[in-house]
Amino acid sequence: MIYYWGKGAYCGWICSCGALAETLGDTHRDKMPHGEKWNKLNLAGQVILGLAFVLLFFRIGGWVWPNSLMAGIFNAGMYGQLLGFQINYSWMVDVVLAGMIGYGVYFWLSGRFWCRFFCPLAALMHIYTKFSRFRILSDKKKCISCNQCTTVCHQGIDVMHYAQRGIPMDDPQCVRCSACVQSCPTGVLEFGQVDPSTEEVIGRDDLVASLTRAQEEAARENGHAAAANGHAPMTEGDQHVA
Ligand code: SF4
Ligand code: SF4
Ligand code: SF4
Repeated sequence: MIYYWGKGAYCGWICSCGALAETLGDTHRDKMPHGEKWNKLNLAGQVILGLAFVLLFFRIGGWVWPNSLMAGIFNAGMYGQLLGFQINYSWMVDVVLAGMIGYGVYFWLSGRFWCRFFCPLAALMHIYTKFSRFRILSDKKKCISCNQCTTVCHQGIDVMHYAQRGIPMDDPQCVRCSACVQSCPTGVLEFGQVDPSTEEVIGRDDLVASLTRAQEEAARENGHAAAANGHAPMTEGDQHVA
């Protein structure tokens, strides 16, 4: 699934946290901070993923040797206290980061704050989404550098950087929400697939996600139909009068 459609197939269509972010957080998507400084924090999810694997190691050891040191280390890391505070994975990640911070900043830093920076499942998907065929393709001739695509990206991706160069967008953070494709005023962007080894385009999505492209296509079909009937193509004004 990730191979063909990217991480967004899960994060955009299956995960309930993602569903909440795309509904409650949709009107706040432009509040996600962008830039190099914030991009460094993208690695926080990898650190949490590493911790989860370490805990899993001790958890398995605890199953094999109950009441052993391994079981004790797992319990301390998962549920233990430090200086009377709940400094453990369960509280720090599940309650503080995912719950309090993730939802707490929903209306100030966009609904995808947890998804972009801290989610360990996303961090895991980032590893194998590197082999994905999914890309956002761009027709760089049409780009007017308005930055709208980057502004609406609630995963903090600089979409315009790719569009201006005509490079297939391969940022693993993409959750395929289609906001950038839809909002581009000149229809530069579209979903497609590449051969990951050569980055050669091997497919374009049949379903048009761009409003501008849909209008262009409708106008083209109108022109073809009119030509086949021997009439001048119908204009928007004609349609309105009719
Ligand atoms: S990033 Fe994590 S929390 Fe967000 S939609 Fe994906 S799997 Fe769910
Ligand atoms: S706005 Fe575009 S680049 Fe950003 S997550 Fe959505 S589809 Fe991906
Ligand atoms: S929204 Fe479209 S035209 Fe504007 S910068 Fe992005 S790709 Fe270029």
